[in-house]
Order: sequence, then C-alpha cells, then structure tokens
Amino acid sequence: MTNIQEALQSYSAQYDQLMKEDINIDMTRGKPSGEQLALSFEMLDVLKSKDADTYLSYFNYGIPSGIPEAKALFADLFDVSQNEIYIGGNSSLNLMHDMVNKFMFYGVSEDALPWKDQQVKFLCPVPGYDRHFTICESYGIEMIPVTMTDHGPDMDQVESLVKDDPAIKGMWCVPLYSNPQGYNYSDETVERLANMHTAADDFRIIWDNAYGYHHLGEEVIKVKNLLHACQSAGNPERALMVMSTSKMTFPGAGISALATSETNIKYLLSLFGVQTIGHDKLNQLRHVKFFGDKDGLIEHMRKHKEIMAPKFDVVDTYLSEKLYSPEICKWNKPQGGYFITIEVLDHCASEIVEKCSVLGLKVTPAGATHPYGKDPNDSVIRIAPSFLNVEELKEAMDILCVVINYVTLNKLYENQ
Ligand code: PMP
Repeated sequence: MTNIQEALQSYSAQYDQLMKEDINIDMTRGKPSGEQLALSFEMLDVLKSKDADTYLSYFNYGIPSGIPEAKALFADLFDVSQNEIYIGGNSSLNLMHDMVNKFMFYGVSEDALPWKDQQVKFLCPVPGYDRHFTICESYGIEMIPVTMTDHGPDMDQVESLVKDDPAIKGMWCVPLYSNPQGYNYSDETVERLANMHTAADDFRIIWDNAYGYHHLGEEVIKVKNLLHACQSAGNPERALMVMSTSKMTFPGAGISALATSETNIKYLLSLFGVQTIGHDKLNQLRHVKFFGDKDGLIEHMRKHKEIMAPKFDVVDTYLSEKLYSPEICKWNKPQGGYFITIEVLDHCASEIVEKCSVLGLKVTPAGATHPYGKDPNDSVIRIAPSFLNVEELKEAMDILCVVINYVTLNKLYENQ
C-alpha cells in the first residue's frame, strides 16, 4: 500500500468515528466572544443622569455630523482633521451601503451623473469580504475580481483595468488585516491607488478600515493614509475611509465613522440628512467617555489581543501539526484582524466545508470570499476563530484537519 492509501484509510476511519459524535460548533462568522464583549460592559455605566445638564443638546435632534467629542476621537484614529469626519450610525457596513446607494441615485458629487444612469463596475480584491460583494449585487454593480497579494491588490492589474474602462467607478479595499487573509497594504500600494489614472472621473475607493486597531502581533502595523495620499496626488475626493467600534465594544451597538474630504462630507451630509435628523449621540458620548482618547482605545484593544492572539495560535499550531503534509494546504498567520484563510488543493474547498457541516461543524461557506459566491478554483476556506472558546476551537480544528486530510488525500489518491 502507498503512504497516501494508508493515511487515507486512517483519516477515513477518523471521519467515520466523528460521524458518531454529537458535534455542534459554529465557526461561520467573525463575532467577538462573550469574554470580549464583557471588556466593554462598563461602558453601560459611563452616562449619569446627574451629568445630563452638561450634554442637553445631545438628548435632542440635531448635530447631524456627530458630536464634537466623537469627531475629535475619530479624527485622531484616522489621522485626519475633524472637518473630514462624519459620525454614522451603529454600522460601517450601513455607511458603505448608504454611500453606494446615494452615488447610484445622485452621483458622487453635485455635478456628477448618477451611477444608475451609467454602466457601473467595481474592482473587488479576492478573496474579500462577502458583504461588500452583496452590496454590489443588490445594485446590479458588476464585480471584477483582482488578485490579492500579501501587500495589497495586484496593482498592475488594477492600474491596467481602471485606465481604459470608464465604467469602473469604485473599488473595495480592506487595507489592514484584510478580511479574510489578514494582509496589509504596502505604502507603494497606497501611493499607486492614490495616483493611478482612472478613465472614470467619478471613481471612488471605499477603504474599509474595519481592523485598523485590531493588532495581534508584537509590531503595530500602520497603513499609509489614503486620504492624504489622494490629496497629494490631486485626487482629493477619491478616498472614502470607514471604521467602526463594532469589534471594539459591541457589534450592532457601536458607532461608525467616515473620513473623507470636506467636500465629500458636505455633499454626503446633504443626502444623509434626508434619511435621518442625526444618529445616536448618546451612544457617541458613551463611547468617547468609555475610551477617553486614542490611547485609551489602544489600551482597550490590547485586552482584546490577549483574548484573540491565543486563538490564532491554536489555529496555526493545529494546521502546522495535524495536516498530512504542508503541500496539501497553505495558510498565513495574520498579525491582526479576525480571520485566517486556508487555501486547500483546487476543487476541494466546498467538499471540505460540506463534510464539516455533515459532522456538525459549521464553517463559512466555500465561495463566500469571492464575488457572486464563486471561487473559480474552489480552494479558499475562511476560518473565524474569535467566537469559540479555546477548548471549542481546538475541537473544531481537530475536526477540520481530519476533514482536510480526508478530502485532499482522496483527491490525490484518485489522481495518482
Ligand atoms: N467590514 C469588514 C471588512 C468586516 O469584516 C466587517 C464585520 N465582519 C464589517 C465591515 C462590518 O462592520 P460593522 O459592524 O461596522 O457594520
């Protein structure tokens, strides 16, 4: 018997054994764990009725761009001026969606044509964040995949696509600890994005800095400021940078923010003003009081790191130690963010996810990391280790490694 055949028999037996167990583990989405949420429970105590007089105007309608204290905090976090900040509602996804919606119906500026009256395409670095792709799909925006590298999207591809096609109006970017690979955009990538010639004069980059302060490594990685780079390049309106506290305090009960040119802020305010008289200013105040300032927020994120980093270690250790051979799977160990991407042999990802699900381990659906849910090589699997506790995560990784071994060795054996 060949080595592969012997190993396959053993993994097949392990798989059959797992079938008999009652497994119920969900690793589909990057939700913070209960322990992480508890880090912010004290935020519930920071507003006191005795202080109400100081903040009377925050209890009423108005101040649509956000309270000055929140703008000051986010200006610091984005490293821009306060006039370049808009504080949104509880979700940056909502903010990104609403910007695309406004651009569809009204165009990107006072004198621009609405995107709905033109052909619209978006560049999508892949693998990427499924909810970005869903926004495009919901508006019929054609998605063009571009290859993601460990220093950002392949800029040769990006530049050659945008220079000739006026229908390419936008691009999604997750510049730091990207979802799902945990890659970071290099300074050169940022400069090229800011400077590149685009055939569309209403081209915008949606810079989703969801993991801007979610460091896990020793080194604090910083991405070059896109807004400043665009301003220096003579494309001041190109950058729309968003962030939220969803994975700092409470997902769904955090605050979001946009950093962009003053011109864009003014224009978007006029459009957002139609749909709301202002977001939740008490939640803005609660967040500012809880964090104090940027240093306070960084200290808070260090506590998240203490909980998250050991989980990233577990995933890395299991993949390093339990896979049949390093050739059957590639993965990286991100220095921050929420996800780890593993790349298995071509045409194996869906079967692995399916077999995990049959056993009772739910993993992000294969293909979710690609536009239209289609991974052409069927090889990318996204691991979201945050929500499980370390023991559950070890069990999940044990199962996942058995299934990867079983499915990929089967494939190798068939192709022998
Ligand atoms: N962008 C990225 C890249 C994300 O991974 C997530 C959360 N999974 C979001 C945005 C959603 O953020 P929010 O809760 O602020 O809408």
